[in-house]
Amino acid sequence: MRTEAKRAYHRRYMREWRKTHPLTKEQRFKDNCRSYARVYMIRGLLEKQPCEVCGDENSEMHHDDYDFPLAVRWLCRKHHMELHLNDCSTRNIKKEYLPEKMEQDIKAKARKKGFKPGGERYNEYVYSAMRKGDKCAKST
Ligand SMILES: [Zn+2]
Ligand SMILES: [Zn+2]
Repeated sequence: MRTEAKRAYHRRYMREWRKTHPLTKEQRFKDNCRSYARVYMIRGLLEKQPCEVCGDENSEMHHDDYDFPLAVRWLCRKHHMELHLNDCSTRNIKKEYLPEKMEQDIKAKARKKGFKPGGERYNEYVYSAMRKGDKCAKST
């Protein structure tokens, strides 16, 4: 199938890309945490829940603390985003610094990078870019 081929191509591309762009220690740590949780999910030890805010079934994993891979919170994309934006604000970063424009810019950038909107890579890129943001540089 065409989309299957595309996906395979994307995977191969990401593998090659990863060789020249190794993950930082922190990224690897987060990555491990996510795959750990994913494995538990596959084994049925961790159950996907609807968004804790609005009950949307189409939820995503969120980790408050990457030291605890199984302490997962489930949030839809919208509320996941919101949580990360609030994350920044709790770190003494004014919310005005994170206008919607920034989100749009980041999303546009992600699309330009060839990430499929809604895809895992796309989401990851958007989240991490939003977390870091220009003004969130101090966040860890
Ligand atoms: Zn929600
Ligand atoms: Zn999250």
